[in-house]
Amino acid sequence: MKTEIIAVGSELLTPDFRDTNSLFLTAGLNGIGIGVSFKTVVGDGERDLARALRTAMGRSRLVLCMGGLGPTEDDRTRETLAKVLGRKLVFREAIRRRIRDRFRRRGLAMSPSNLKQCYVIEGSEVLDNPNGTAPGLWLETGRHRIALLPGPPREIRPMFERQVLPRLASGRPGATTLRRVLRLTGLGESAMESRIRAFYRAVPPEVTVTTLAAPGDLSVRLSLAAPGDRAGAEAALDGLEADLVEALGPWIYSRDGRSLEEVVGGLLAGSGRTIACAESCTGGLIAHRLTDVPGSSSYFLESAVVYGNAAKTKRLGVPPALIERHGAVSAAVARAMALGIRRTSGADLGLAVTGIAGPGGGTPRKPVGLVYIALAGLRGVAVRRNLFFGGRADVKFQSSQRALDMVRKSLSRRPGKAL
Ligand code: AMP
Ligand code: MG
Repeated sequence: MKTEIIAVGSELLTPDFRDTNSLFLTAGLNGIGIGVSFKTVVGDGERDLARALRTAMGRSRLVLCMGGLGPTEDDRTRETLAKVLGRKLVFREAIRRRIRDRFRRRGLAMSPSNLKQCYVIEGSEVLDNPNGTAPGLWLETGRHRIALLPGPPREIRPMFERQVLPRLASGRPGATTLRRVLRLTGLGESAMESRIRAFYRAVPPEVTVTTLAAPGDLSVRLSLAAPGDRAGAEAALDGLEADLVEALGPWIYSRDGRSLEEVVGGLLAGSGRTIACAESCTGGLIAHRLTDVPGSSSYFLESAVVYGNAAKTKRLGVPPALIERHGAVSAAVARAMALGIRRTSGADLGLAVTGIAGPGGGTPRKPVGLVYIALAGLRGVAVRRNLFFGGRADVKFQSSQRALDMVRKSLSRRPGKAL
């Protein structure tokens, strides 16, 4: 049984809005073992919408359609589906009373434009909407099951969870999608692919492998929908995951979906160590990421955004002569910054970043993307030279990622070897 999601709304075809609801719907469907085969985003125009609905019904048995149930002229999903199915719209007085009461409670009169929301497609069931005026519809024809759902996330979420998922889950006891997610940093997409080429050949057809690659962050996901023998499927995924760990071990930072900052936070908390940062080109991004993790106050002390040369000297004691001689973007200055923040903050670890985020400021010897990262600890300082690609935001993110990963690696080593 193929499943398809249609997101309706001309705003979803502009640069300003994106269809986020379908991600949430997909998570819920996967949770009961239903995979999604197609997703369509279509504008409010009736002809396009009708065509999208017909196409979906031609290839999918379950169609979840959202948006376009509002009171305004451009909301026409209900009417369009009725036409496509050749069914009448029938007025439901109960819906009118519910919408009227909803307005009354706020001291308002129901607007005539809401009247169109009181019509339902002949033969459909109404899905109540406690968070808005637009009721949803559930329809079973001989061949199709179709849901019409409202667009606003706070309306669609409870409706889908409480009224659609139970309808889909009945008759599928225990069905679920099993998943494994490995997150990696420190190697490129093609390097990862070449390391797992042999692995792909061992993947049985019922397991889906997807890789996601962004600069500085990769993930490999394994999924297996609605396994007949759950224990056997778990064991098969365990085996595949072990193969991936074998091939990609040093670059894997999490196997449970956690972000790098959560992993680093866990390691810091577990080791009882504290950290402080000196950030030049990351402009506070490392601090932002570390403090996104609840409980970070137990290990994160401070981050100094020392962007200008004078700040590096005044705040961290980096000698002006050192900057003069090597330049602000240099291994020597990164090292002095890490030592400086460690000393002045009293943290166990001092993490420092200095680089050229671009787009300007590069030279042949020091190109855009050149970033030095230093980590100072009890046993000394490690400095790494990096050359990142991409625009300013990419360079900043990759710098923060590599810096956090240095901390991760340092704390994951045998205790005697940690900085
Ligand atoms: P509608 O039901 O078409 O009146 O949708 C009302 C609002 O819901 C839109 O203006 C969007 O802000 C939001 N919305 C509609 N569809 C989606 C979607 N697929 N993902 C996220 N938000 C949506
Ligand atoms: Mg709309």
